[in-house]
Amino acid sequence: MSGPQPRAEVMQIHAYVGGESKLPGINRVIKLSSNEGAFGPPPAAQAAFAKVAAEIHRYPDGGSAELRRAIGARFGLPPERIVCGTGSDELIQHLCMIYGGPGTEIIMSMHGFSMYQIAGTYAGSRVLKTPERNLTADVDAMLAAVSADTRIVFLANPNNPTGSLLPQSEVERLRAGLPDEVLLVLDAAYAEYVTDPGYDAGVKLVDAGENTVMLRTFSKVFGLGGMRVGWAYGPAGVIDALNRVRGVFNVNIAAQAAAVAALAEPGWVERSVAHTTEWRERLRAALEAVGIATWPSAGNFFLADFATAERAAAANAWLKSRGIIVRAMGTYDLPHCLRITVGTAEECGLVADALRDFAQHG
Ligand SMILES: *Cc1c(COP(=O)(O)O)cnc(C)c1O
Repeated sequence: MSGPQPRAEVMQIHAYVGGESKLPGINRVIKLSSNEGAFGPPPAAQAAFAKVAAEIHRYPDGGSAELRRAIGARFGLPPERIVCGTGSDELIQHLCMIYGGPGTEIIMSMHGFSMYQIAGTYAGSRVLKTPERNLTADVDAMLAAVSADTRIVFLANPNNPTGSLLPQSEVERLRAGLPDEVLLVLDAAYAEYVTDPGYDAGVKLVDAGENTVMLRTFSKVFGLGGMRVGWAYGPAGVIDALNRVRGVFNVNIAAQAAAVAALAEPGWVERSVAHTTEWRERLRAALEAVGIATWPSAGNFFLADFATAERAAAANAWLKSRGIIVRAMGTYDLPHCLRITVGTAEECGLVADALRDFAQHG
């Protein structure tokens, strides 16, 4: 072979498979495949985006200072301990490059978010996937996988794609059982959706030591997936390292403006969460009523469990033929499941109708 050769680990990576968004021949597609939220972008964010159009010849503020101040005010956190990224995906990658690398190991659970595997492998680390119980991360299995080479443990809580939520006591037991030099990354992309009063997105553990970082995103409840804004809250040492390596102008000028405005949209999160919680459970109940099993979820999505890969594929094709796109789960080793994002009331009704018909005739 001639031509430039990628590093061997690059060729081990399976490129990320995102949610589909188009169906040939179907005009009105109902896209419930990427957990983008039911309401579109906040109106204030759309207005801010439009307004910034006349300024796009300017470089953005590389430090996202105004956005970090707004995040800090909203969540009661010191802005200097926040780093913004081009989505939290950028920050996941940097954390792997900073703390991982050849000869090191990164731990995630079996059905954890696939970006950890991609980013960890890219960094040159060995990525270990530990068994789960009931599609929920198992702290004992994660701790058992720790070796002298372990550098990072990733935990999405709630987890995507399973929707499972690890109780705070278990998250604390995980941290307590890890060596001090192992970074625990708590990915709280769906934090706003959690209604469990005992839940902490990660702030407590970040504040309790030097070795835990929390990741958040504007892509889910805030409805700005297309803008690519995420952020990390962490100990000074982790924040300092991220600031050395992140893209210098990583969050673009429109994304910063839209995110600041989204935070200021009155009642947005409350409305989104109330709708999502109600319709997630209504849709789950509708599927259960026609004999389709579902998994409990703390996010704006849930897994429908068709018991076999064949049946799940048939259900997926059935939904597609009706213009409904959900997420196939083969890449997550859950080929018997489909992940369904909670959409509008109308969309949920259409999914329920289609899957009722599938259960009866499909
Ligand atoms: C969607 C998602 C992210 C990525 O968010 P971006 O900020 O859009 O990069 C990270 N972690 C989990 C678990 C997610 O589901």
